[in-house]
Amino acid sequence: MASHVVGYPRIGPKRELKFVLESFWDAKTTALELQATAADLWSYIWNQMAAAGTKFIPSNTFSYYDQVLDTTAMLGAVPPRYGWNGGEIGFDVYFSMARGNASAPAMEMTKCHYIVPELGPDVKFSYASHKAVAEYKEAKALGVDTIPVLIGPVSYLLLSKLAKGVDKSFSLLSLLGKIIPIYKEVIDELKSAGATWIQFDEPTLVLDLKSHQLQAFTHAYSELESSLSGFNVLVETYFADVPAETYKTLTSLKGVTAFGFDLVRGTRTLDLIKSGFPSDKYLFAGVVDGRNIWANDLASSLDTLQALESIVGKGKVVVSTSCSLLHTAVDLMNETKLDKELKSWLAFAAQKIVEVNALAKALVGEKDEVFFASNVVAHASRKSSPRVTNEAVQKAAAGLRGSNHRRATNVRARLDAQHNKLNLPILPTTTCGSYPQTTELRQVRREYKAKKISENDYVNAIKEEISKVVKLQEELDLDVLVHGEPERNDMVEYFGEQLSGFAFTVNGWVQSYGSRCVKPPIIYGDVSRPKAMTVFWSSMAQNMTERPMKGMLTGPVTILNWSFVRNDQPRHETSYQIALAIKDEVEDLERAGINILQIDEAALREGLPLRKCEQSFYLEWAVHSFRITNCGVKDTTQIHTHMCYSNVNDIIHSIIDMDADVITIENSRSDEKLLSVFQEGVKYGAGIGPGVYDIHSPRIPSTEEVADRIRKMLAVLEREIVWVNPDCGLKTRKYSEVQPALTNMVAAAKLIRTEL
Ligand code: GLN
Ligand code: ZN
Repeated sequence: MASHVVGYPRIGPKRELKFVLESFWDAKTTALELQATAADLWSYIWNQMAAAGTKFIPSNTFSYYDQVLDTTAMLGAVPPRYGWNGGEIGFDVYFSMARGNASAPAMEMTKCHYIVPELGPDVKFSYASHKAVAEYKEAKALGVDTIPVLIGPVSYLLLSKLAKGVDKSFSLLSLLGKIIPIYKEVIDELKSAGATWIQFDEPTLVLDLKSHQLQAFTHAYSELESSLSGFNVLVETYFADVPAETYKTLTSLKGVTAFGFDLVRGTRTLDLIKSGFPSDKYLFAGVVDGRNIWANDLASSLDTLQALESIVGKGKVVVSTSCSLLHTAVDLMNETKLDKELKSWLAFAAQKIVEVNALAKALVGEKDEVFFASNVVAHASRKSSPRVTNEAVQKAAAGLRGSNHRRATNVRARLDAQHNKLNLPILPTTTCGSYPQTTELRQVRREYKAKKISENDYVNAIKEEISKVVKLQEELDLDVLVHGEPERNDMVEYFGEQLSGFAFTVNGWVQSYGSRCVKPPIIYGDVSRPKAMTVFWSSMAQNMTERPMKGMLTGPVTILNWSFVRNDQPRHETSYQIALAIKDEVEDLERAGINILQIDEAALREGLPLRKCEQSFYLEWAVHSFRITNCGVKDTTQIHTHMCYSNVNDIIHSIIDMDADVITIENSRSDEKLLSVFQEGVKYGAGIGPGVYDIHSPRIPSTEEVADRIRKMLAVLEREIVWVNPDCGLKTRKYSEVQPALTNMVAAAKLIRTEL
């Protein structure tokens, strides 16, 4: 039997890596202690995979930060600003690249959570991190023979960007010739260490590649062929199916013995394989979902595997995960608060390994009947459970089908109506929602949750905080106020906890990058809103001031994209259900006298499918979901939305189609490109607030600096539509930073008003 795991979470079942990393960064833990904790984690996981019977156990998928950065270290592609002088890269240089140091800022982190390599013609590559080999040997010493994993050379280059100052015409792929020799060195060392298999992750193969990019794969693997001889080589793809043209190239690559495919997100992969698969090669079939927390439907997976085997040949199918298990939670065993029924529907990384092996055994005729039978029971209970299905919600969501909800009047007319009602000055000033979250605040929330303080004490504590924030904003003379979100720990969890159909884990952490983890809620059933969620706090805040108070909500698409979503109905169905729940909240807030509402869609862009052919469908339902939330409000009610990214060039029409009255958007690099993109929006007429300063840094911008940014905005945007606000919420900042920064922001707005 043959089983494989593409990669495994490295953060640890109780976030052990996170805590030791942070303690190391605070200089409270030594490098040796950090390495020891990491080694313990790795060995625990290798042993776990071995004990489950896994044949192909990955190594080098563990990382102190992220695997792309590890590859940058392996290739010695350290940007000159870190002053590295060659030799083996240690923690100092490695973490400087990830997090910056006193004299050099960090390398860029993408929204896909990896550190982007900065390359150009002058980079001197050298074999500078022997981690892959060291890890292989480490596992071997424990008696576990692993399949070392490297990010493939072509994907590495395609995930890179041009270093500053490099001519735009420079082709990153032209660096292949320089990095291949280093890959060869690594391969030779792995061979000498005793490895017989190697895995190249080439996730970019699922993108829409241009023909010269595809040719780069052919070229790279023929270059590597001689080094790879005697080795079994797996090229692993994931996150989608590969385009048909790519499939041909991929399966003709020289020196490759096995191909790995995502059979969960890759809905057409099966057809591709049916269209032809090279004889004598192995198919690594990713049937166990690496990006979700649901128990596999074993019977249906086994059917798929058998169908594949009949095409590819007996003994040629290796059961695998759809992608690295990095994207799921670690171990269901540590969930003490979930009930038995719900738990029976779930599988985290540790359980998915067992599923992979059970499927592999079944494929060779050693089916564990008891295990399969209990899986059938779990699926049946999930299907029929009344906590999953809510007829009324299903009906309401079905009623949306074929409809196109949007507000009746156009944005110009609405803005006029709002102007008359709200009477805001030109260049109105506001903030994006949250104010600093202090330790005391976190403690109050924790104690209330643990029932250590009464509801009354809790309400009073939060009320006091809101009143402080309101007073501060009045003193700062901001035009549109917020209540500061002191009652919220997280913008998704806060709503999920009040909606039905959501469950929460205790330890279901997923690493986003470095030591940062998120704990996504689980949407297991039809979503409804039993009662109002924010009206109490928002109207309390509005009653404290004469100025308009924004009601703050998280949008449906963001709630969806930052949760583990049910897989028994299409994502858009769930999105529509959440939209209807938020719609009720919007209308309740309006009735309670809240005239401005901000519905954050911080994660709308994140959910964009990788493949162009799937994007328009996603954008259509995502944007429609947003519009559903506010299609019923009066013209005089002003709807804002907020987005935490400025790379909207390709989706600008969808953003305009959200039909919001005001859009606040990240613009920390004062990107003129963004502004020119928004000229498109000017035609449409909505208000726009490109952030005037970066809240991710403790730096306090001067009045002049902010004023300058506003001037730049006014050079391209009509003054009637410009809003002045920071980039994002202030919850990670301190009051000592927020107060002077906002003082300068308001002063800048006032200064510019006098110039108009
Ligand atoms: N309203 C949220 C806040 O200010 C928005 C956060 C976000 O966009 N990530 O915290
Ligand atoms: Zn934001």
